[in-house]
Amino acid sequence: MSQNVHKVKDYIEKNKNQYLDTFVKLLRCPSVSATGEGIEQAAGLITDMLRELGANVLTYKEDGGNPIILGELNEKKEGTIMIYDHYDVQPVDPLGKWASPPFEPRISDGKIYARGASDDKGNLVSRILAVKTLLEVLGELPVNIKFLFEGEEEVGSPSLPSFIKNYEEQLHADACIWEGGGFDQKGRPMIYLGAKGVVYLELRAKRTGSDLHSSWGTIIENPAWRLVMALSSIRDEKGGILIENFYEDVADDPEAEQLVRELDIDRSEISSMTNNGELIEELPIRELLRRWLLSPTVNICGIYSGYIEKGQKTVLPSYAFAKMDIRLVPKMSPERVLSKLKQHLAKRGFNDVEVEVLNHGYPAARTSPSSQPVRLAIMVARTVAGKEPVVFPNIAGSGPMYLVTDVLHQPCFSLGINHPGSNIHAPNENVIIDYFMKGMWQCCLYMMNFVPWIRLGDVPYL
Ligand SMILES: [Zn+2]
Repeated sequence: MSQNVHKVKDYIEKNKNQYLDTFVKLLRCPSVSATGEGIEQAAGLITDMLRELGANVLTYKEDGGNPIILGELNEKKEGTIMIYDHYDVQPVDPLGKWASPPFEPRISDGKIYARGASDDKGNLVSRILAVKTLLEVLGELPVNIKFLFEGEEEVGSPSLPSFIKNYEEQLHADACIWEGGGFDQKGRPMIYLGAKGVVYLELRAKRTGSDLHSSWGTIIENPAWRLVMALSSIRDEKGGILIENFYEDVADDPEAEQLVRELDIDRSEISSMTNNGELIEELPIRELLRRWLLSPTVNICGIYSGYIEKGQKTVLPSYAFAKMDIRLVPKMSPERVLSKLKQHLAKRGFNDVEVEVLNHGYPAARTSPSSQPVRLAIMVARTVAGKEPVVFPNIAGSGPMYLVTDVLHQPCFSLGINHPGSNIHAPNENVIIDYFMKGMWQCCLYMMNFVPWIRLGDVPYL
């Protein structure tokens, strides 16, 4: 290990308490994008942190949107890394299931519990502090940095596309470190090279008038039955999607298939990521992994209609709605998928079932495992964890990563601090403090090696 690497590592260790204080301060700020609570304060806190680093900060705000923050540290180096994170968080409900208040960070058994601890303030802060560490120890950064922080990720990033379009030149970089990523139960780094796309919609079956006595059910159509029939026409018993040509754009990706074949993960590891959810039994592990990571899905998020309170009420409902998300893999277009769904319903006589698009969503994204910045991420993660990283072609969830890979044309990957029990979006969200610190260290090493690696193929600090 070189002198500088030692100094950086020591500095992080020495400043642990101070760094945790900075983190806790941001966690105290609610920043729930669904309600707007605390958004401006969180954006202000982050802007201050970036200014303290000496960054040029640009704040962009669309009408009614939450601030997007671009913090630039241009050290005139021969390489630039963009760092994408979001400062907004999911709502906290069900509040009763939290062991401590979600915006009063609690430290217990080596973890910090708070909404946003993992998704995504932990990554955001650890990366800011990595830059701070390098500035303090080395006096300058070994690479140019662009922080891109948004406050609408949890509500579909509505302002981000126009920001990216308007500031395309200013957003130039050689690689982008995305939110997320982390360590698995065995402490192996998990690196993700992409994200699925998503569309969010509601299916609505309605009839005129209000709820009626259920005795009318013999001669008046029940919207709940109409909805159930429409829904059941969409998927077969084994999970195959029956929408005509739904799979036609799903392209072969030999590199992604190869990564899935190499994944050293068993059923119990996947199951533990889902709080011991029961995996479909008859699927062998390879097929399970393929479906999880490489298949599109049509999911019912919720169904509501009629009387659902305690006891009984005989009623013929006036409406039945289902909220749904469709997750997309590369090459599938949200618009085409929606029009296929509408055609499917029309063709089967469900003209009375409306498709209301709640979020037009975005396509999927993926970066090649052989790209230079990804290869460096794998080497750095291996050094930091002392274990072989697990490289996924993409997360099974979604994020607007296509804006980076397909609009800005930057290789993009996640290299972060989360763990399988992070409880993202759920009560008792948490981060392991050791991973928060390791993430910082990992980010420092990545920045130190970046320019020598992409210019000369050299990794002097590993
Ligand atoms: Zn999230």
